[in-house]
Amino acid sequence: MLEELLDANKEYAGKFALAGLAPRAAKGLALLTCMDSRIEPLAMLSLKPGDAKILRNAGGRVTPDVLRSLVFATSFLGVDSVVVMQHTKCALSQLSELDVESHLRSAGLEVGDWEFLTMEVPDEALASDVEAIRSCLSLPPGLTVQGWRYDVDDGSVAQIIL
Ligand SMILES: [Zn+2]
Repeated sequence: MLEELLDANKEYAGKFALAGLAPRAAKGLALLTCMDSRIEPLAMLSLKPGDAKILRNAGGRVTPDVLRSLVFATSFLGVDSVVVMQHTKCALSQLSELDVESHLRSAGLEVGDWEFLTMEVPDEALASDVEAIRSCLSLPPGLTVQGWRYDVDDGSVAQIIL
């Protein structure tokens, strides 16, 4: 399967059209969302390459590494608005920390000291993630930060935290 991807890249590079694209986010947006393979972050918002910084992880949760990336994005890459976009039917909203730990144990894997950032109450998780960005003192005070939720069944986006 990996070989197929490299073959496909040869075709992509053969007609590459993004050369010279500026590294700054043309629309000033950073979008944090889940790694869920049902989400098309650019297409769903009519964005194109070069418009936005896209950050993805399990759940679209705010972690120290997300804050690190936002510090760079706001200081050097033209970002002045941040959207945390979580989604319906996220695996992290259907599991508890204990569920993940017992799954790992039953597979003979180490639980370690991970915090898996499951979301038993999705609205609370979204609110606390937005607040974690708003209260980060390494981010500029005028930064716009909102919390949105994408519906994987109909493609719509709702503004939850304004
Ligand atoms: Zn998800």
